[in-house]
Parts: sequence; C-alpha cells; structure tokens
Amino acid sequence: MSNHEPQPKPTLGDANDELRQTPQTRLAFERDRLQAVFDAVSTALLVVDEDGIVNSANPEAVRLLGPLSQLLDAPLLTLLIAGATVHTTRSLVDDDWLSTVMMQRRWQVDNIRLWPKGMPDFAADCVIVPFHGRGPAGEPEGVRGKSAVVIINDNTSRDAAHSQLEWQATHDVLTGLANRSLVTDRLQHALVLAQRSGSWPTVLFLDLDRFKSVNDQLGHSTGDRLLIDAARRIEHSLRSVDTVARLGGDEFVVLCEALERPDIAEQVAARILQALEEPFDFSGEEVYVSASIGICRADQHSENAEAVIRNADLAMYRAKENGRNRIETFDAAMRTETHRRVDMERALREALDNDELTVVYQPIFNTERGALVAFEALVRWDHPELGKVSPTEFIPLAEETGLISGVGERVLDIACRDAASWRDAAHFTIGLHVNVSGRQLGASNFVSYLARVLRHHHMEPESLTLELTESVLLDNPERAAVRLMALREIGVRVAIDDFGIGYSSLAYLRRFPLDVLKVDRQFVAGIANSPPGQHILQAIVDLAAGLDYVVIAEGVEQPEELVLLRQLGFQFAQGYLLAAPMPPAEALLLAAASSVPEPAAAEQH
Ligand code: C2E
Ligand code: CA
Ligand code: CA
Repeated sequence: MSNHEPQPKPTLGDANDELRQTPQTRLAFERDRLQAVFDAVSTALLVVDEDGIVNSANPEAVRLLGPLSQLLDAPLLTLLIAGATVHTTRSLVDDDWLSTVMMQRRWQVDNIRLWPKGMPDFAADCVIVPFHGRGPAGEPEGVRGKSAVVIINDNTSRDAAHSQLEWQATHDVLTGLANRSLVTDRLQHALVLAQRSGSWPTVLFLDLDRFKSVNDQLGHSTGDRLLIDAARRIEHSLRSVDTVARLGGDEFVVLCEALERPDIAEQVAARILQALEEPFDFSGEEVYVSASIGICRADQHSENAEAVIRNADLAMYRAKENGRNRIETFDAAMRTETHRRVDMERALREALDNDELTVVYQPIFNTERGALVAFEALVRWDHPELGKVSPTEFIPLAEETGLISGVGERVLDIACRDAASWRDAAHFTIGLHVNVSGRQLGASNFVSYLARVLRHHHMEPESLTLELTESVLLDNPERAAVRLMALREIGVRVAIDDFGIGYSSLAYLRRFPLDVLKVDRQFVAGIANSPPGQHILQAIVDLAAGLDYVVIAEGVEQPEELVLLRQLGFQFAQGYLLAAPMPPAEALLLAAASSVPEPAAAEQH
C-alpha cells in the first residue's frame, strides 16, 4: 500500500483557468469539448429532433450510414432501414414508434439489422436517449423531449471475432480441416439419425506412415507443409458431404455419412492411399509418404461417436502391424483382441514391478565343429492367468506403451549377469546376443546405459552383440547411424536380425556399421528342396563375405538344412535342431561342458 495522498487529476479546465471567467466563454469551451468527444468516439452518434430528423452525425455514423449530405435533415427511420426488405425490421418501427421512444428515458434494442441506403447492411445495438432536460428556452423538466441522441454500436467486428473463435474451436488451425470435436459432433448426430433411417455412418482413421522421420529429417516446417498438402489430397479424394478432420499430429479422420454400400468405404480408403502415392515436392526435394487406414462402420451396437473412432483407430493399428500402407476393417475379433491387450498391458506393468520376467538362452553354434560360440537371450513371461505370453505378442505391446525400456533393461541386466557366470564356468568368453527394439535404441541414454551395465558385470563389450531388425534402422536411419557409431566406439557388435524379410538391400545397409547378419528362418525352412532358395542364400553369403559380415542362419530344424548351410558357407547356425532356448542353469551346464577352448570358439569374437 502506498501512503501517497491521491492527487487530483488535472483536467482541461485547470489548464485554461481564464476560460472560466465568463459564462459565455465557458459554455463555448464545453461545447467544443463535447464536439471533440462526439467526433472521436468509435460509436456512431446521431442527434435527432423530436420528429426524428437528423441534426448532426459524427464520423463513425457517416462511415456506417452514408455521407453527411445524405444524413442531415433526413428522417432517422428511413436512414436506418432504407434498404430493408425484411418486414421484421420495418414493423419494429411503425409510425407511433418515435413518439413512444421520445416519451421514455432510454430506449434500447440489441442486435438489430440495419439497412442504410446505399451502404452495406450490418447488425448493431441501438440506444436512443431523449433529452428530457431544460431546453435552451428554459422549458420545465419532464416535458416531452425536444431531441434525442441515437447511439449505434456496430456489431460486425464483435461478430467476426465471435465467429473466428467459434471456427477455431471446431477446426484445425494448420490444415483448416475440422477438428476432433467437430467430427465427433457430426458423427454423434449421424448415429442418432441412423437409429431411425438405418443408414449408418462409416469412419476412416488414417495415420501417415513414418511421418515422424520426415519431421525429424526435413524439419518441422516441411512437416507442416506435408500435413497441409496431405490434407488437401485427402479432401480431394472425397465427396463434399464427407467430413475430414485432423485429430492432431499425423492422424486424420474421415466421416462418410450414408454410403450406398458398405464396401464403398474400402474404395474411398483406396482412393486416399492412391492420392498420397505421388511424391510431395518441397522445393525440389521429393518426399514419399504412405498411410495406414482403419475403417469402422457404425451399427446399432455402436456405443457412441468416440467408440466408433476408437475402433477405426484400432483397425488402423492393425494396418500398421500388417506392414503399413494398407487398409484394415474393424471386426469383432479385433474387439476381443483389444480387451486382451488392455488386460495384458496392466499385467505387464505388474510383471515388471514384481520381477516376473525371465530370460532363456538359445545357443549359437559353429557349423564346422559344432562348438558353442554364443547364447541369444530371449525374454519369457509366464503370467498366472494369461499363461505363457509370447514375446512376439508382448514386445510390440511394450513398444507401444513405452514399457519396453523397463523390459529391455531387465533383460540386459539378467543376461549380462548370466553371461558373466558362463565365462567363469567355461574359462573362455562365450558371446551374448541380446535383442533390442526400436524404442530402446532410440532412447538418448541407451549407449551410456549399456556401457554402465557392461562395467557393472565386468563384461567385455566385444562379447556382446545387439540384434536389431531392419525396420529399426529404417524408421529413423540418421538416429540409428549415430547410435551404431557410438556402439562401435565402445566395442559392442551389431547384428541385423531376421535379415531378408525387410525391404532393404545390402547396399543400403552398408551405410551402417554392422558386424553380423542373421538370416531369417523363412529362408532356411525348406531349402533342402528348393534350388532357388539355395541360390538366394548363396548370394547373401557371398555379399556378406564381401562386406566382412559374419552370417548366422536361424531356425535350423532339419539335418539336411544344416548340411546345406555348411556347404553354402554359413559359419554359424541356430535352431531347434541344434538346441532350443534353455533356462540359465542349463545354459551354464552347456557352457561348462564346452570349457575346452576350441579355436573355433574365438572365431566369432
Ligand atoms: P528372434 O530374435 O528372431 O528370435 C528367434 C525366435 O525364433 C525365438 O522365438 C526362438 O525361440 C525361435 N526359434 C529358435 N529356433 C527356432 C527354430 O528352429 N524354428 C522355429 N520355428 N523357431 C525357432 P521367441 O523366443 O518366441 O522370440 C520371438 C521374438 O521376440 C524374437 O525373435 C525377438 O524378435 C523378440 N524377442 C525375444 N526376446 C526379446 C528381448 O529380450 N527383447 C526384445 N526387444 N525382443 C525380444
Ligand atoms: Ca533375435
Ligand atoms: Ca530372428
């Protein structure tokens, strides 16, 4: 609080003390002052006489109603509604209107539409204040007003601001498409209508594939332009009655109301995918994107708009899982699956908290001498109710939910601890292979964390091989290259897992510092009876040799396969024929039994 006495505010009058000297000059001064206010205010002001004839008008009134020459001496009513064709406005101001108004202290009407002659019509709030005071001739107070001030507040800008706000609340500012709330509203409305009409709306949920890497590589402004262009292409592949919304990020929703036939939804989705096929051109740089689309057709069982969108989203996820750039339609099986996933996510969190994950080890052998050279760590989860859950099921779930970092750290820690015990039992270093998923590799602290775990367990970095799939490298090649360089620096080796089923060529993979190719078991299965399959494997071995990569064949199940692989030049093999994944105690026994260091054992590392 301040102790200062409030100072009286200086007024114009104080500065012009002599003006007060005579009543006449003072009156003149007051009139000038009022005139200045009259001219300056951004509200239209008119002074009218008792018959409604305009005596004066300020500049804002001129702006709204027309030139002064047209305003002065004109009757107020004809001025305001000269262009009106709407009867409601006229009926408001019948003949008795003015006399009624003049009897009042204040007359007001809000948001009335005015139609001044030759000027654009507009909505305004109008106030009329009759003068009831003494006129210049000293008439007594309380008689009928001799004149009135008409105050007109133009609502145009207020309305514009209002509709701007309304627009922003229902649209995506970047693309100008509808937003989630608008499309949800429309869908909800369509669901209600469909209850009676029976024509159910269909929702397409679209997510651009690998948009994140475009954003990371080319920058956010290019990412934004891509979203805008993609939005236009999606719009153009639809009928004008369909609603396209952007939910945020690279997710779009299309609402098709009343399609003639259910299968048309697939055609619409296919048209969208086709529209996105053409490369996007950003100042000479061609960018390719595809999209994954999930479709959900609402029916009488649809709970509400949110549920329909969620189901389309689930179908979209399925499209991603099945290889992207494709269309999947929601069905009852997906619904059951969803419940299972929700249950499983909760259970997986608990499993991490309660240390329920274990690790088994599958040996990798030298094909010539049959010597043990390494173990691949494979995570296991045996849940009391869900039973044994396959890593092919819960690893992707862990990736999606972010639980993978917990899973990965757990596996790495257990595996390094076990590997240290084999080394002590076998008196030589047995290699350890650990699977690493994309999100793990993406973590900025991944390499430093790894180095810490290795130190903690006194593991030589050279004895550890991380297995990555091609898609992990391709999702974000720049980042992957940085991580792989860092891994090479600390001495950890890198293998490409499931090699051959991805889309990349060896020429592309050369960009990355890699050490090992693990050829996917689908190339191994049945090669004994497939000369073309043998040629493919031969080509892979030759290329790998040229690049100095070690090759491992996985999924060897038949003795003939092993023989062939050996002939083709595979140095290492893994598979049920040789040994299935085994618990740590068994792995320890196997390691101890292999304790005679064979020259081959050192080959891989
Ligand atoms: P993967 O890395 O390709 O692992 C090989 C899978 O093939 C293992 O299944 C293994 O049990 C199985 N297998 C081994 N030999 C044969 C054979 O001769 N024939 C056939 N048909 N299969 C064979 P598993 O343990 O169910 O693991 C499945 C996948 O889960 C792994 O594929 C890997 O991608 C992932 N995974 C497993 N453990 C981890 C982990 O700790 N972290 C991460 N990120 N992923 C893991
Ligand atoms: Ca693997
Ligand atoms: Ca594999």
